[in-house]
Amino acid sequence: MSAKISLLPDHVANQIAAGEVIQRPASVVKELLENAVDAQAETIQLVIKNAGKTLVQVIDDGVGMSNTDLRLAFERHATSKINVAEDLFELTTKGFRGEALASIAAIAHVETHSKAEADEVSHSLKIEGSKVVDQSLSTQPNGTSIAVKSLFYNIPARRNFLKSDQVELRHVIDEFHRVALAHPEIKFQFFNNGDELFDLPVSNLKQRITGIFGNKWDAQLVPIEEKTSLAQIKGFAVKPAFAKKTRGQQFFFVNDRFIKSPFLHHAVSAAFEGLLRPGYQPGYFLYLDVDPKSIDINIHPTKTEVKFEEEQNLYAILRSAVKHSLGIFQVMPSLDFEQNTAMEVPYSFKDKTAVPPPIQVDSNFNPFNDNYNSASSSFVSKKDSHWEGLYSGLKEEGSTFVNPQKESLIEVTESPKVFQLFLKYIVCPLKTHMLVIDQGRAHQRVLYERFLNSITNKKGVSQQLLFPVEMNLNPQQLDEFQHVDAALEMLGFQLILKSKNRLVIKGAPDHCPTSKIETVIESILSDHEEESSLEHFSHADQVAKTMAKCLSIKSGEHLEAKEQQALLDDFFGCKETTVSPFNRQIFITLEKTEIEKKLN
Ligand code: ADP
Ligand code: MG
Repeated sequence: MSAKISLLPDHVANQIAAGEVIQRPASVVKELLENAVDAQAETIQLVIKNAGKTLVQVIDDGVGMSNTDLRLAFERHATSKINVAEDLFELTTKGFRGEALASIAAIAHVETHSKAEADEVSHSLKIEGSKVVDQSLSTQPNGTSIAVKSLFYNIPARRNFLKSDQVELRHVIDEFHRVALAHPEIKFQFFNNGDELFDLPVSNLKQRITGIFGNKWDAQLVPIEEKTSLAQIKGFAVKPAFAKKTRGQQFFFVNDRFIKSPFLHHAVSAAFEGLLRPGYQPGYFLYLDVDPKSIDINIHPTKTEVKFEEEQNLYAILRSAVKHSLGIFQVMPSLDFEQNTAMEVPYSFKDKTAVPPPIQVDSNFNPFNDNYNSASSSFVSKKDSHWEGLYSGLKEEGSTFVNPQKESLIEVTESPKVFQLFLKYIVCPLKTHMLVIDQGRAHQRVLYERFLNSITNKKGVSQQLLFPVEMNLNPQQLDEFQHVDAALEMLGFQLILKSKNRLVIKGAPDHCPTSKIETVIESILSDHEEESSLEHFSHADQVAKTMAKCLSIKSGEHLEAKEQQALLDDFFGCKETTVSPFNRQIFITLEKTEIEKKLN
């Protein structure tokens, strides 16, 4: 049998090689954005259609290409970024392999034009499946535009392998985030199907983060800064209290390049040790500057993995930098609480349990004794019974005991003086002990039960807005909106979705101040996106929790005596009083005996 070895035609070789670099529209987005950054652009526009399946276009105002360069750019191993192998160790650019454009041109229709500043005119080029089909002069401004159409048109297997537009868009947005976060000094705009998804002006790092993820992030970030001879570290950690169960916000950039590093992640996790509840993930945006010689980024074709020379030292530096910042900013650890499994049941189901309440029979009951009117005379279900314990000091003091589940507590709390401590706690002294109640968590509990009740009973009271509030929703928010709009309406929101992505809010629940409406809606639409569905029992539960979080009294807020009283009244009327909707302990009891022991 004679051997039949033949060389693959170039376009076939290109197609095969392309598969390594370009897996989906998001890979095209990454390569084109990085090229624009490498070209020193000040403004970069990303335009996509159908999540990039139909079109990915990147327009920049960078250095541009001459006619020859434009032709060469689409040849395999054509790069302006390295000449000799040694250059690999001095890299300051994103690209260097010179295969992205060649790969893209092998599997799509590419239309591009570019103008270098020195040139009079711009040059246009059309390539389909590695073949140049048109070449002409044009009159475009300085910079480069590359439009990639019909991705994988000649590889149906690949094309069919693509996921839904929604999933592909998620990948595109992820890539966009990574490049935009690495370069706050560049202005970015991003359009999908004609809708503007992002418009990010030149800014500092923090503004870039909030520009991308929303203003509420401003209060969630702790700055990190560390300079050593091995590495310079800057960026932000997300305060532990805002940690998520998903790995959403974990970003490492090494020399302005997004990378994945389980190793560095481990270092940061170690810094967070003891500050996160089980199952929660640290969030961070960390930027490391190291000598390009000390890293190897060439070990993965899509270049998101890096090997460091002095790994162990870097680990230690990173861990201590993060730990130090978390300490300095006195981030409240959320340690001492126990997962209360009873709370894993949706509120709306609580009343539906078929288990009859255990009845406590009061053996002292004497129907002929008129003076006998304390709480212990009524039949109390076990759920209510702990209140007896909390208020046991009062009876002896002669005040009337009122079942807090049913009636106002005014009479009870009139005798003990309630006061605010550290602008954070309400202290309620009783005869044998005192309660120290976290004002924020107690209020969250009150609001959560109120909102959930409105939703489940469809009885939210709406307040017409004099001036409707309008906001633009991005694709994710739009998607989330479809899930939660029913719950929002039951709460009392009056919502109209105008022109695809413009949300008009004409009415709001009567407990929701107009100034907070936008934040509330934004949080509801993004919390859902970020947190695992396991965390919420239902959309109603999620909406009620988020509303409660946004609208609750915060620590640091001064409360008048009357407000303290009203809060306690509301709180003691709640169905559940031990933990907040986010499973945090609401109050502690300090026994008189404990104090006596300490002062012994
Ligand atoms: P690499 O980025 O690895 O060099 P690419 O295939 O991505 O390889 O690009 C090939 C070359 O084309 C680059 O080295 C650069 O010289 C040129 N190029 C690509 N995109 C642009 C752009 N937007 N502006 C200017 N030059 C570009
Ligand atoms: Mg490149």
